Amino acid sequence: MTGIDLGGKVALVTGASRGIGAAVARRLAQAGARVAVNYHASPDAATAIVASINDSGGEAILAGGDVSQEEAAQSVIKRVVDHFGRVDILVNNAGITKDRLLLRMTPEDFDGVMNVNLRGAFLCTKYIMPHLIRQRSGRVINMSSVVGLSGNPGQANYAAAKAGLVGLTKAVAREVASRNVTVNALAPGYISTAMVDELTEETQKKILSNIPMGRFGTAEDVAEAVVFIASDGASYITGQVLTIDGGMIA
Ligand code: NAP
Repeated sequence: MTGIDLGGKVALVTGASRGIGAAVARRLAQAGARVAVNYHASPDAATAIVASINDSGGEAILAGGDVSQEEAAQSVIKRVVDHFGRVDILVNNAGITKDRLLLRMTPEDFDGVMNVNLRGAFLCTKYIMPHLIRQRSGRVINMSSVVGLSGNPGQANYAAAKAGLVGLTKAVAREVASRNVTVNALAPGYISTAMVDELTEETQKKILSNIPMGRFGTAEDVAEAVVFIASDGASYITGQVLTIDGGMIA
């Protein structure tokens, strides 16, 4: 998608030290947004993403912090607003997996995934919302997954968190629609990142046979959708889940 102009907008992308989040941060910057790159455990990788955006003519800052912790989430948003004077776009992308069949899944496996993927999105959305409401404009984009729509063996925790994000999206979309703030979710299928690279070759082959387009998605495929949902052209779209999966669950 070309021609989208996000000049003047400020975006916070959680979990942007690699993978989809990094591609989203780069693409938002390319469209003219000033970008805050959040990370938790990978400061060096996040610093490299910030440098690559600034080196290519964009404007980016680091905004580290574990989004699942209330104080950290608050201070990430404060850092963005203190630095840029505003914030317009939140991409709740930070996510982890701890895959195990239900009978082997520990309560800690469950809580860990819920905390980052769902609680983190709740906290960032909660603490950014006063700024968006005050501005009478804003975008929240939640990174769900096709797994949250269809389920997947070995991912009860992850599927529950990603389905939870769909509910969060729809509820908050209804709460803030009158303030000109939209809240949408993206549901990527299998995207070539560290998360998919960890799967065995046999599993990857099996998955590919179920994707009508015959390929895994790229982080850039997801980033294009983020830029569109963030744009003025998407101002009447809210409470939706956009699947980006090469036709897998069509
Ligand atoms: P990834 O390569 O593993 O990257 C995950 C990102 O999340 C990293 O930048 C990581 O940063 C960050 N993160 C993890 N815990 C965090 C925390 N507590 N606070 C802040 N940041 C944290 O994953 P990905 O494949 O790009 O996936 C990105 C998102 O898309 C996730 O929500 C994932 O569930 C979703 N998704 C992915 C796929 C796929 O096929 N890849 C499909 C559907 C949905 P640090 O290393 O700095 O902690």
